[in-house]
Parts: sequence; structure tokens; C-alpha cells
Amino acid sequence: MSVSVVGHSNPDTDSVAAAISFACYLNATGTDAVACMQIDAANLNPESKTVLAKFGMAAPATLTDAAGKKLALVDFSDIGQGPANLDKADIIAIVDHHKIGDITTNGPILFNAQPVGCSCTVLYDMYKNNNVALPKDVAGVMLCAILSDTVNFKSPTCTEADKVAVAALKGIAGVADTDALFMDMLKAKSSIDGVPIKDLIYRDYKDFDMKGNKIGIGQLELASLDQVAAIRDELYGALKSIKADGRHSVLFMLTDVVKEGTELVVVSDDVAIIEKAFKGKVDGTSMWIDGMMSRKKQTVPPLQAAFGC
Ligand code: MN
Ligand code: MN
Repeated sequence: MSVSVVGHSNPDTDSVAAAISFACYLNATGTDAVACMQIDAANLNPESKTVLAKFGMAAPATLTDAAGKKLALVDFSDIGQGPANLDKADIIAIVDHHKIGDITTNGPILFNAQPVGCSCTVLYDMYKNNNVALPKDVAGVMLCAILSDTVNFKSPTCTEADKVAVAALKGIAGVADTDALFMDMLKAKSSIDGVPIKDLIYRDYKDFDMKGNKIGIGQLELASLDQVAAIRDELYGALKSIKADGRHSVLFMLTDVVKEGTELVVVSDDVAIIEKAFKGKVDGTSMWIDGMMSRKKQTVPPLQAAFGC
């Protein structure tokens, strides 16, 4: 029976690329293996679709029930992130970069978890240390996974090993400019084309109670503010109607991931209190706040302070 290599549920680019990479590694070292994922190809996230297309690779096969299967796991070791009936599968290997989860096995297995930024960095080391040839297209998707997981080296989880792997993989994959590659991935991930305006607003939206005032805060992460240029008026109109439904304020964060800051769109009964919270001036309908990336850490606390919570 061949080994099914599978990443976590709701797969990201690392789970997809690591499954492809580890299946390739196993095949090259004498174990029949096939790359899998826990969803149908049609439901793959836009970033991973773009990555596979860029390097001409097919999406992994679908695997949702592990009963009776021989499995290798990548990018997770928690039962809750696995396919159904994981306890009825024979797990032969795990390659990961997260905390060790709650999966146990009946026998000894190949277990390689490293405190690095991406499972594909761990896999790159396995290829290198064991002199296994790395095909160009496989190197390409591994490269993308590392850029994605480390947010182009900006994530605090990024290590020197990730940078070393990227430097080697870009050579094998024939990629000259990894910043441009990351940008393409980010644009695919943050694509808003054809998404209804309220879906866009509610994609990542929360209401907060601040001293009896209902405050709505939404966030949209973008590769560039140009992406919303054509829908600004429509967006503002929709925010006004959400505000009109019993709210003191609605704030919408247009976060520029590249420039590392946020244009905060403000609809409020009391613009002054919002300006006080963020020490700036609303110019037209919004204000730019340098360095603001996180609603939880950088938007909510100053607002709560301004409202005296
Ligand atoms: Mn992942
Ligand atoms: Mn990962």
C-alpha cells in the first residue's frame, strides 16, 4: 500500500507544498507515496492555486478518511487537524515545525520537527542531508511555502535556516526575484475581485462594547491599497449603513501588508474620540496609521483607553 502524505485541515500553502515535497522524497528513497490534502482541488485557497499554477503542478489528491490507510503527516501533529479516523490509520512519519501535538503511534516512526518557520524548510534539510535530488517544480512550491509561512521573512517565526533554504531553493527553481514572487502570492491571497462588498466587510469583522457604545471593527489585508481603489465609495456607503444599525462607530482597517500600516476608514458619531485614540486626524473619510497591522493588539486597546474602558 502506498503512503498518503497529508497536511492539516483547511490547508495552507505549506501543507500543500510539504505534502508534494515529502511524497517526492519518499518516492525517491524507495517508498511509494502520493501527495494528498483534506479538501477537493476546487476548494483550495487562492494563494495555493496560484503557486501550483506557477510551477505547473497538479493539486494533491483528496483524502478525508484515514481508516486503513498508511499515512505520513506534514505541518501538524494534532489529532484535531487530521482527517477522520486518524486513529484507524498507520502513521509512518511526521515532518513538522509546530509544537508537538497529541498524536501517538504504536511503533517507532520517522519524526522530524524543527523550530523553524516552515515544514518545507525541514524538508529542504532532509533532501540536502541525504543527497536526494530535488526537482525544479517541487523546489518552486517549497520556496513559495517558506515565503508564505514566514511572510517573506517578516514573521517572528522566521529563522536563519528558512533564509538558507530560500537561497538554495530559488536557484533550483530558477526564481530570480523572491520579493516579486511573494507579491504575486499576496495579491492572489488578498484578491477582492467579484466579492460582494458586505462579504468583504464581514470576512474579518467584530463588534465590541466600549462603555455601552457598540463599535464595529473590520479588517482587510491587502498587498496594496490600489486593490480597493475602484470600490472605495461603495465600501464607505456599506460601512455607513452598518453604522446606522445601532452603532456608535464603524472602523474599517485597510491594512497594507507591504507598507506595514493601515488606512483606517472611520464612520462615527464622535470622530474626535477616534482621532484621540490614534493620535491623528481623519482626512476625508480615513486616517493612515503607520505600523498598524493587528486589530487585537493595535486597534482595540487604544480605542478602549479613549472610551475609558
Ligand atoms: Mn500550515
Ligand atoms: Mn507551516
